[in-house]
Amino acid sequence: MEIFKKVGEGAKTIGESARSFGKKSSDLVEIAKLKYEVAKLEKEMDNNVSALGKLVFLQYKGEEGLEEEIERLVKVTMELEAEVAGIQEQIGKFYPSPPVCPECRTELPDEARFCYNCGNKLNRDEAQD
Ligand SMILES: [Zn+2]
Repeated sequence: MEIFKKVGEGAKTIGESARSFGKKSSDLVEIAKLKYEVAKLEKEMDNNVSALGKLVFLQYKGEEGLEEEIERLVKVTMELEAEVAGIQEQIGKFYPSPPVCPECRTELPDEARFCYNCGNKLNRDEAQD
């Protein structure tokens, strides 16, 4: 029962079993891995930003020669940011985006045939009969 154990652990880690309902166990494991990676990178970004804050503070108080370190940290943090965005995009692929009303851009449930906000009829494949 190794698989069931893994699924349980994955669901606990990402803590959104409701949203993950009906997903393949391999997907759940992959999503959990990606989210773990994002959390790790975000923590690194937090550390960098807090270090940057200190450096800027010191610089403001008159300490010299900090520009290089500030620039390095900004670059590294921007790279981390781009990396996080890439992983978020990968995670997003596991969650197909819900249908959106072409009139008012309201997000609608998968099975919707009409927009509950503006009443627009949705042109969906399964709505043609
Ligand atoms: Zn609408």
